[in-house]
Amino acid sequence: MTMRRSFLIAFIVLLALLPQLPVPEFWITQANYIGLYTLVVIGLVLLTGVAGLTSFGQAAFVGLGAYTAAYLTLTQGVSPWLTVWIGLVITAIAALILGWITLRMSGHYLPLATIAWGLSLYYLLGNIDALGKYDGLLGVPALKFFGIELNTGRSFFYLLWVIVVLAALAATNLLDSRAGRALRAVKGGSTMAEAMGVNTFQTKVTAFVLAAMLASISGWLFAHFQRTVNPSPFGLKMGIEYLFMAVIGGVGHVWGALVGAGVVKILEDQLQVWLPKLLGGSGNYEIIVFGILLVLVLQYARDGIWAFIEARLPRVQRKVDWADAPALAERSRPPHGEVVLDVNAARKEFGGLVAVNDVSFQVRAGEILGLIGPNGAGKSTTFNLVTGVLPVTRGSVTLRGERIDSLPSRQIAKRGVSRTFQHVKMIAGMTVLENVALGAHLRGSRGVGSAMLRIDRAEERQLLKEAEKQLRRIGMAEHMHELAGNLALGPQRLMEIARALCADPTLLLLDEPAAGLRLKEKQGLADVLRQLRDEGLSILLVEHDMDLVMGLVDRIVVMEFGTKLIEGTPEEVQASPAVRAAYLGTEH
Ligand code: ADP
Ligand code: MG
Repeated sequence: MTMRRSFLIAFIVLLALLPQLPVPEFWITQANYIGLYTLVVIGLVLLTGVAGLTSFGQAAFVGLGAYTAAYLTLTQGVSPWLTVWIGLVITAIAALILGWITLRMSGHYLPLATIAWGLSLYYLLGNIDALGKYDGLLGVPALKFFGIELNTGRSFFYLLWVIVVLAALAATNLLDSRAGRALRAVKGGSTMAEAMGVNTFQTKVTAFVLAAMLASISGWLFAHFQRTVNPSPFGLKMGIEYLFMAVIGGVGHVWGALVGAGVVKILEDQLQVWLPKLLGGSGNYEIIVFGILLVLVLQYARDGIWAFIEARLPRVQRKVDWADAPALAERSRPPHGEVVLDVNAARKEFGGLVAVNDVSFQVRAGEILGLIGPNGAGKSTTFNLVTGVLPVTRGSVTLRGERIDSLPSRQIAKRGVSRTFQHVKMIAGMTVLENVALGAHLRGSRGVGSAMLRIDRAEERQLLKEAEKQLRRIGMAEHMHELAGNLALGPQRLMEIARALCADPTLLLLDEPAAGLRLKEKQGLADVLRQLRDEGLSILLVEHDMDLVMGLVDRIVVMEFGTKLIEGTPEEVQASPAVRAAYLGTEH
């Protein structure tokens, strides 16, 4: 048994025993609050820590769940075991609308929108007569579970903590899955994720709805625990506090949610007792201490308390359980020599600058085309036109007879175009294997639900097997369990190529793959690329290492100042005086 699993079991045993021990009732109450908060903060870990989206509005979603439960049980006599689902539906719809409107826009709209949402729901709840205005609704009945009334802290404790532990496990499962990799990929901007075929907008909305639903369940529990609801625990102040718990605990770690909720709740109580004694008088002094604490954490322990704990736990290596998984289906390859990519008078202007000036070329199946030229010649921009990262100003890009120049990146990826980036784009905190498996995103279909329930394992084994296969092919298999961020630049580039190959591409675009590679690695890379070409793949290669390019490619396109200077075999290009003057001259 791993040490982590032992910790988890020890924790669960401790939880199970706590209400049986002769501890004061106050402890149980605190533990219950910590559980309620943890549920909300797990959602924030997924949303903010993993997907990089900040929300101040989680308390309002808690309120939605709590008020739905209180109102429907009190006035309509609906069973609490039904109101929880009604609350979830209402919350999901609210989150969907809010997310749909704001998540299309750039990063800052979501935090602002959640602040507005948190404020307006608070005032709305406080002004509706039917909801008791600021006094709220009193006399919410206790939950009944198989005839047992959960009307004490101790009896409520078990239901609550079973839900918390299940939520934590579901979130942990999610992070270790196809859907989880997509979720992690959206944090660093959408370009890479979309190039892997991830629908980043949909992924963000899903994360937002999921986090809101966890908050809603917490609200339902809250209503039946407190037995009364009023607007104050669901205001903006509490929304900020939830975020604070997530940051303190460690915003990227599921178990950090528990630590954050626990530390903040206990600290808050202690400070409320001690600070007025120390400072005299009454006041919300703990807010000041929290503020200082937050600054310190952000300054010295950005990843929160859990990252600190995690660094001291032994790192568990994933068990290789996919050896016998069936291989993924492969795309049918175009016949050798068929035109795969046809770039026709493609043009890209940035304001007055013409980065790509009516450039035309073709890439055929089973061919490596080199694209060379001095820095700023427009090579990477050409890549971005082909892969849909940038729209063309004019001209067309055709893939196997189909116009792709107005398609979004992920649609182009779906049609068999895969790429690497000049500046490596990866998920540093994920293993090499998981990073590479992201490349196979479009070859799987399992989503968030099956990941949480762990019924996605058959497909997951296939994806991981493919990832290992591509890593092996590129000579990186022994690095598979390392964190991608710990690799040197050269191996990171190789990892990106393996990731691109995982997509089973027809056309592979490599942007300076050999930069930072050692001689042996370069030779290995050249061998792999030759082998891929012989298998019928088309490769478009931007590279500065002339020895590599000249010995590898079939034809070369030379660009300068956005314009195509010449196209020909390596010999023709090397013999061209214009190229020497423009390009090779500057290289040496
Ligand atoms: P290369 O990859 O050949 O070194 P790039 O395609 O990166 O060249 O750049 C071509 C030209 O376009 C450069 O002058 C660069 O500054 C400009 N450029 C590239 N991307 C952008 C952008 N997003 N906005 C404005 N100018 C850009
Ligand atoms: Mg470039």
